[in-house]
Amino acid sequence: MRRVMLVGIGALGSELAIKLGLLGCEQVFIADADLLEEKNICRSELWSDTVPGMPKVITALPCLRARFPATRWEGASVEIADVDPVRFAESDILFSCVDTDLARTEIAAIAGHYVLPVCDAGVGGTSTQLGRVSWFPHERSAACFACLLSSRRRASLLSAWESDVHACWSEETEERSSWTSAARMTSLVSSLQIDVAVSTSTSKCDAFSIHLDLDRQEIAEKIRHSRSDVCPLHDELSGELFPVCTRAACIACGAQFFPQRRVGWVRRWGSCPACGAGSLLIKESRHDFAESAV
Ligand SMILES: [Zn+2]
Ligand SMILES: [Zn+2]
Repeated sequence: MRRVMLVGIGALGSELAIKLGLLGCEQVFIADADLLEEKNICRSELWSDTVPGMPKVITALPCLRARFPATRWEGASVEIADVDPVRFAESDILFSCVDTDLARTEIAAIAGHYVLPVCDAGVGGTSTQLGRVSWFPHERSAACFACLLSSRRRASLLSAWESDVHACWSEETEERSSWTSAARMTSLVSSLQIDVAVSTSTSKCDAFSIHLDLDRQEIAEKIRHSRSDVCPLHDELSGELFPVCTRAACIACGAQFFPQRRVGWVRRWGSCPACGAGSLLIKESRHDFAESAV
């Protein structure tokens, strides 16, 4: 586990970054498209003297470099789907500290494509006493995150890559806000995440999760996951990993154009070439994922 990619440096991810530094990793690449908010600054020592509104990654890197100079720290303020593919080839493992099922599904797709193991973690949910660490091996025969979802949920997430506008995104926002974190849980879960990765990455095993619930007498429970036969993320893909927008329309002026870029990118960053407006409709897209027939 010398070369690591870390996706998401919120409360949990920033704690994990520090632990990766303490562990003495040779190289850590961090991907996170979010900007720093006031609430992050009081939560993490990485941002104690920075200003809100800056990209999280850009402000975290100097602090990590200064504190752990033996590790090569790099990063980009982008979503995982926009990370330079070379970076995946350079990584031994993907740590996921994101907070939505959609982001976890994107990570599962990337990991499947580049044959990388994923160590995922989350805190919060219905209580600040809850946490979870999951291990997804690199073998295509093992379960990925999307295998754990119901067929319906998986189909809705895979189509959210493609479908237009905000119905599915507002659903994700609600889910995110119910997942809050307490400092103690964040520290505990990031330690467990490191421990699971270090103890599992060299052995061959099935996918599993460790659920933590500090309110229960048995605080930890291990659950094994088996692969879903209909999960489409295990097939070899010949084309694009993520849906590409082939035709878009401007809501403001009605102009149509052909972005040929990832749907997620167009939705987040795209603008009309005629009038510059940012509200666009995805009219056509292509992608290669489909639920396998049962
Ligand atoms: Zn799967
Ligand atoms: Zn326009």
